[in-house]
Amino acid sequence: MQQTALELPHRRRYPWGCLARRAARPPAPRPGPLLGAHQSIAGGLHRALERGGSIGCQAVQLFTRSARQWALRPLAEDEVRAFAAARAATGIRALLAHDSYLPNPAAPVESLRARSVRELIAELERCERLGIPYLVAHPGAHGGAGEDAGVRTAARSLGEVLEACRGFTATIALENTAGQGTQIGWRFAQLGRLCAREAPISRTDASRTSCRCGSWPTWTWRRTSSRRASRMA
Ligand SMILES: [Zn+2]
Repeated sequence: MQQTALELPHRRRYPWGCLARRAARPPAPRPGPLLGAHQSIAGGLHRALERGGSIGCQAVQLFTRSARQWALRPLAEDEVRAFAAARAATGIRALLAHDSYLPNPAAPVESLRARSVRELIAELERCERLGIPYLVAHPGAHGGAGEDAGVRTAARSLGEVLEACRGFTATIALENTAGQGTQIGWRFAQLGRLCAREAPISRTDASRTSCRCGSWPTWTWRRTSSRRASRMA
């Protein structure tokens, strides 16, 4: 998911409330879709929540690390505390993390596939510590091995990730793709096959974010199980 340019140079009053007051008192839960956007983590992970809160977001997506580097710095305890404090202060109701752009669960080359599994495990561990329930991940690209092989490989990889993270509250939300190159996951049927292929994948949610099939920069996300890919197949 690309980052949005939603940050505003000045504060504005929005129809859904005064931003300053929202920061002081979290909004009461109400039914209906949540409005949110991907926010930058420049200055710290908690800054993504503050940025989202400042423009009235009810939901925020963020990277929990650099999106274009394999190197991963461990989360410090004070980062986790600052994140929790910002969440409480802003009243952000729904959180998603997006994985970095480098893992490819469908990679036909074993070294890259295995590295992708390790990275996704590490990212899911970060989500678990931060209290983020979903890690948005792309199914990957088959790299010429064919769609069926790609789906099988991605299912195996995601199964390994979920097996390693058994007992976690956080899980993976598969994001559909635009289908460039040899990407898989550009049809819901493929996502359904991924989720149905191996038992652990039943813990995986299918994610539909607007960077692929809706209006950007806003996206809606319902925290129900009704969008599980296994039910959409
Ligand atoms: Zn994405």
